[in-house]
Amino acid sequence: MIRMESVTKRYPDGTVAVDRLSLEIPDRSITVLVGPSGCGKTTTLRMINRMVEPSEGRILLDGVDIRRQPVNALRRSMGYVIQNAGLFPHRTVVDNIATVPRLLGWSRRRARARAAELMERVGLDASLGRRYPYQLSGGQQQRVGVARALAADPPVLLMDEPFSAVDPVVRKGLQDELLRIQDELGKTIVFVTHDIDEAVRLGTRVAVLRAGGRLAQCAPPAELLAA
Ligand code: ADP
Ligand code: ADP
Repeated sequence: MIRMESVTKRYPDGTVAVDRLSLEIPDRSITVLVGPSGCGKTTTLRMINRMVEPSEGRILLDGVDIRRQPVNALRRSMGYVIQNAGLFPHRTVVDNIATVPRLLGWSRRRARARAAELMERVGLDASLGRRYPYQLSGGQQQRVGVARALAADPPVLLMDEPFSAVDPVVRKGLQDELLRIQDELGKTIVFVTHDIDEAVRLGTRVAVLRAGGRLAQCAPPAELLAA
């Protein structure tokens, strides 16, 4: 479980991006952070993997302050997926997915086998493995991004508007895949979106943020109060 305790982020220019946010993110669930642009969603996600340090408050992972763990180990336990996939442009699909396993010292053969397995899991045809990212559709790139984030089997996935740049029909397919992956693999997912429909569709729990980085409510979708 990830637990945020009264976390505030004030950027050096004085902007308060997140204001005394307390949130519990249960294991093996999808917690969605939703709210308008600028309400602190990305900042919150980045504090969880220490790309951004809180100004106040603390974040616990399984009861341990994340500042007490080596940052590399922390990030290896958290796959990260962003809006335009952020794939390495000069690496093929297979090599993109195999990057982290290779860094962890897996043999080339084992890393490639893992990539093939993950391509199947995210619904990518094996024939796409030798392509480069620019040769894929937006939806396919996002699938590669998800596969890459899953490659070293991290318990946590942090997803920042991963499906926002693809058209609605493709997005629905990606959402279905994510729900299936979550169900099969039991990952702990923190999912950022500005789309309330997406939040309700995906979230085990939905945390609604409002301007100024304050938490308005956090509840299962069926219990969300009309805003
Ligand atoms: P969201 O993901 O909900 O759009 P962000 O976390 O990106 O929100 O941003 C929250 C607020 O913090 C915004 O007002 C944004 O302009 C500001 N902000 C984000 N990053 C920085 C930064 N590096 N320096 C100063 N302000 C920032
Ligand atoms: P989407 O609706 O998912 O955005 P696109 O219209 O972008 O799909 O792509 C449709 C198909 O064309 C996909 O199977 C994609 O792999 C293929 N494709 C797109 N761009 C290229 C390219 N530059 N080279 C080869 N195939 C491509």
